[in-house]
Amino acid sequence: MTLIMLGPPGAGKGTQAAVLSEKLGIISVSTGHILRTAVKEQTPVGLEAKKYMDQGLLVPDETIIDIVKDFLAGCGAGKGCILDGVPRNIAQAEMLERLGVTIDAAILLNVGDKEIEDRMSGRRFCPKCGAGYHVKALPPKIEGICDVCGEGLAIREDDRPETVRRRLEVYHRETEPIIGFYASRGKLISIDGTASIEETTEKVVKALEMVQ
Ligand code: AMP
Repeated sequence: MTLIMLGPPGAGKGTQAAVLSEKLGIISVSTGHILRTAVKEQTPVGLEAKKYMDQGLLVPDETIIDIVKDFLAGCGAGKGCILDGVPRNIAQAEMLERLGVTIDAAILLNVGDKEIEDRMSGRRFCPKCGAGYHVKALPPKIEGICDVCGEGLAIREDDRPETVRRRLEVYHRETEPIIGFYASRGKLISIDGTASIEETTEKVVKALEMVQ
């Protein structure tokens, strides 16, 4: 089963992808995480991507295509995968189709801009293993420390308020049109993303049962 997580930044795509990955036994891939790792390791892709990411802009499609081709090779061998963070525009959605990726469902998590701005201020992440947390909604067991690997947690550069506003603008302009793209293919599952993590997962799992 291949799923796409859709929704504004901070809607909970990464969190739900991690939970679903565990429940369904399929891997989850986040382009944002891959890019952040490249930035940290200062690879050529990372150095190029950082210029866009720090401003809340999308990284050019040519860079994303190479990343996607790389991880799809790994997904094909398994039972499918959950794509978190890609596609981000119509060109990337068309690219996935051209690469022969069959999408079973695109899960849209609906959350309004005001709530997103509030949520993002509490987000934390582990710079070592990429695990995501939230000071209120998903706190680590020990404040400021990653449950998985014990590293100190950090705030993403692109979670600063002015960058969050830019990312929301980019989402509405470039990413939102994909909702129609998958709706027209009968693949869209639209979920209220404002409830608790557990309630949201429950709604997603119920909706997916209809797909299978
Ligand atoms: P995310 O962790 O998905 O919110 O992604 C963080 C940042 O990485 C985004 O604001 C973009 O700058 C970049 N990014 C992640 N995925 C993509 C993608 N599919 N296309 C373009 N840029 C992306």
